[in-house]
Amino acid sequence: ADVLPKRRRVLLKLSGEVFGGGKLGVDPDTVRGIAKQIAATVGEVEVAIVVGGGNFFRGAELSQSGMDRSRADYMGMLGTVMNCLALQDFLEQAGVDTRVQSAITMGQVAEAYIPRRAIRHMEKGRVVIFGAGAGLPYFSTDTVAAQRALEVHADVVLMAKNGVDGVYTADPKKDPQAQKLDTLTYDDAMRRNIRVMDQTAFSLCKDYKLSMVVFGMEGEGNVTRAILGEKIGTAVSA
Ligand code: UDP
Repeated sequence: ADVLPKRRRVLLKLSGEVFGGGKLGVDPDTVRGIAKQIAATVGEVEVAIVVGGGNFFRGAELSQSGMDRSRADYMGMLGTVMNCLALQDFLEQAGVDTRVQSAITMGQVAEAYIPRRAIRHMEKGRVVIFGAGAGLPYFSTDTVAAQRALEVHADVVLMAKNGVDGVYTADPKKDPQAQKLDTLTYDDAMRRNIRVMDQTAFSLCKDYKLSMVVFGMEGEGNVTRAILGEKIGTAVSA
């Protein structure tokens, strides 16, 4: 009775932080490690990935330094594409067929975002990597993760985190009493004022009943385990 339903298709969100290993730019060894973990799941479940870009630029930060917000956001989106290419490279080295689809047209490096085509790629066993966010300023890649998950009919969105292994009752770095939660509903999260992702992303997940798993990158094999649906991190549901 305790058997988890088998996942068919997952959407993995990797923030830019994951790529940089905490620094600006891409740390190849880190990306190679993540690619190997994803490669270990191929054939078991279909995988789409939304890639963040905070290791290069965040629009909000650049605009605080005086740049026009939209232009800064486009820089942020372009940063995500570099992460996509790095991940694509290491996935292909690990023997995985991949396609990058960008929300901003750049035919030399990526396909355009075409949802039905993305689904077809996954059906053929390819991992699809979504770059350039939504192609729209004022959005975040968390929101895009929720939106793409809904549009390609993923069963769950997997939010990989650095430095924390799930959702806690309070900030575990500040409050020693903070306890990790195994499960949580979106209503609980709202009531407890827990911010697992930005508001727009959160609303999409809640309104359209998209399940989410928040898990930590740090443990050995955690990305593989999250993709395969092992009990890990915190499960958030409607
Ligand atoms: N961004 C945007 N529209 C999108 C997605 C991203 O304008 O649809 C910009 C925004 O400036 C953001 C940056 O790209 O700060 C990098 O994305 P994000 O901060 O979501 O990456 P992460 O925090 O996951 O590394």
